[in-house]
Amino acid sequence: MSDLTSTRNDAIKCSAAKAIIDGLAPGGGLYVPTTIPCIHDDELSALQQLSYSDLSAHIISLFLTDFTKETIGQCTRAAYQNSFSVDNCMALKTVDGIHFAQLYHGPTYAFKDFALTLLPHLLTEAKRMQGVDQDSLILTATSGDTGKAALNGFADIMGCHVIVFYPQYGVSVIQQKQMLTQRGDNLQVIAIQGNFDDAQRAVKAALSDGDLIAQLQAYQMRFSSANSINYGRLLPQIVYYFYSYFELVRQSQITFGETVDFVVPTGNFGNILAGYYAKQMGLPIANLVCASNQNDVLTQFFTSGIYDSKRQFYTTISPSMDILVSSNLERLLYHISSGDTAKVSKWMHDLKNSGKFTLDSTEHAKLSDFVAYSADETQTRAAIKQLYDAHGYLVDPHTAVAYSCYQQYLSSGDSTRTAIVLSTASPYKFPRSVSQSIGLAVNNHDDYALINQLQLATNCPMPQYFSQLHMQPNQQGGICAIDAVKKTIIDYARSKR
Ligand SMILES: *Cc1c(COP(=O)(O)O)cnc(C)c1O
Repeated sequence: MSDLTSTRNDAIKCSAAKAIIDGLAPGGGLYVPTTIPCIHDDELSALQQLSYSDLSAHIISLFLTDFTKETIGQCTRAAYQNSFSVDNCMALKTVDGIHFAQLYHGPTYAFKDFALTLLPHLLTEAKRMQGVDQDSLILTATSGDTGKAALNGFADIMGCHVIVFYPQYGVSVIQQKQMLTQRGDNLQVIAIQGNFDDAQRAVKAALSDGDLIAQLQAYQMRFSSANSINYGRLLPQIVYYFYSYFELVRQSQITFGETVDFVVPTGNFGNILAGYYAKQMGLPIANLVCASNQNDVLTQFFTSGIYDSKRQFYTTISPSMDILVSSNLERLLYHISSGDTAKVSKWMHDLKNSGKFTLDSTEHAKLSDFVAYSADETQTRAAIKQLYDAHGYLVDPHTAVAYSCYQQYLSSGDSTRTAIVLSTASPYKFPRSVSQSIGLAVNNHDDYALINQLQLATNCPMPQYFSQLHMQPNQQGGICAIDAVKKTIIDYARSKR
C-alpha cells in the first residue's frame, strides 16, 4: 500500500501506517496523500446520521486505506467515547448569528485533544501492522497546549513514551500546572532554561542526532513525533468540519447543500489545512478564512503570494499562534502545485536559505479557497470585550482573533454566507488576558484566583477541573540546561530498561 508521498520527493512511496510511525519523510519533507478522497452527495447525506466517533472512523478510513475500518472504529471509540465532556465531543453555539464550534471540551480544554486522544491508538496499531516492536519515544517542545494534550493522550499507553520540554518562563501558570499534574509512568516533563525557540531547536537537534538514535536503539527505543507534521494528527481534524456542518443542518440553521465559510485561528496551519481537505472531499465550504494574530506572515502570504518569515516575532496573548514558519503550509503547496515536488523543494530551500519564497501568479491564483486577515493585540482584546459585553459570551484569545478577523471579512462585503468560527480553547485556560480584556482587576491575583474571579463575574460555565487544579499534587518535574537535552533523553531511556 503506497498512498502517500513526500512533499519534497515524489519518488518516495509510503503507507499511512509507516507515515504515522515515522512522522517526517526522509529528506525533511512531509507525508501527503497523492489523492484526496471524494465523498459524493448521497454518501455525504448518509453521514449526517453518524455519531462523532463513527463519523471519524468513516472519514479517517478513506485516508488510512491500509488499516481495516473495524480497527479504526476501535481507535475512534477509544479516543472519543469517554474523554470528552459533551456528547459527540463538540458543541455548536450561536451568538449574534455567528456559529461558534466549541472544540475545547476534551480532556485538556484545547482542540488539540481531537488529534492527540486518537493518535496514540493509531500509532499503536500502525506499529503492530508494521511489526515494529521498539518503544516509541516522542519528544515535544511546547509553548503550551500541545505538551499537555500529548501527555494526556499518551499517558500509560504501552510501548510509548513522551518527554515534553517547555520554556521555563514561557508558558502560563495554568499550562505549566496542567503538565506537571499529569500522571503516567511513561512521561517526563522538563523545564528548559531558555525560551521556546531554544527548546524547539534542542528537540530538533536531538531528533536527527545519529549518536543519540544509536544509543536509543540499544535501549529498544526509536523517536516518533506528535507534532502537527505527523499525518496521524492531521486526519482527525478533518472530521469536526463535517460534524459542525451537519450540526448546523440539524439545528435548521442551514439547508443541506448550502455553502458555508469557516473561520480558523491559525498558527502551524494544521487546523485550516484539515478544512481544505474537507472542502476537497466535497463538503460545501466556500471560503476558509485564515485568521492570524500580530504575527501576520500568513495574511501577507495569501494576499501577495510572498512568504516572508524575516520579520519581527511578537509574543501575544494567543501564544499557540505565535509562529513565523507554519509547517503545514508545505502540504498546501504540494496540492496547489499539483504535486510538483521539485517546486515545493525549491520553495522550502528558499525559505531555509533566505527566510522567504515567492509563488508565481498561476499558483497564487490557486489559493482562492482562502481569504486571510489578522488581528493585533488591541483588536483581539476588543473582540473578547465586545462578545462579552454585548452577548455575555466568553471566548479565549485565539477564538477572539478569529472573531475579529471574521468582522473584518464581513466589512469587506465579501460574504453573506453562514459562518462557523472554530473556537479552539477554553477561556479559562487564559484567565489573565481574558479578565484584563473584559475589565476585571488582575493585579495582585495569581492565575488560580483569577479563574475563580472570572467565573464569579461572568457566570460562564467552568469545568470543575479548573477550580481544583491548584490543589492537584504535581506528578512530574525536572529542569535542564539547553545543552543537557541529550543527556536528559539518555537518562530517561536508561531508567526505563
Ligand atoms: C494550536 C492552536 C492553534 C493553531 O492551530 P494550528 O493547527 O497550529 O494552525 C489555535 N488555537 C489554539 C488554542 C491552539 O492550541
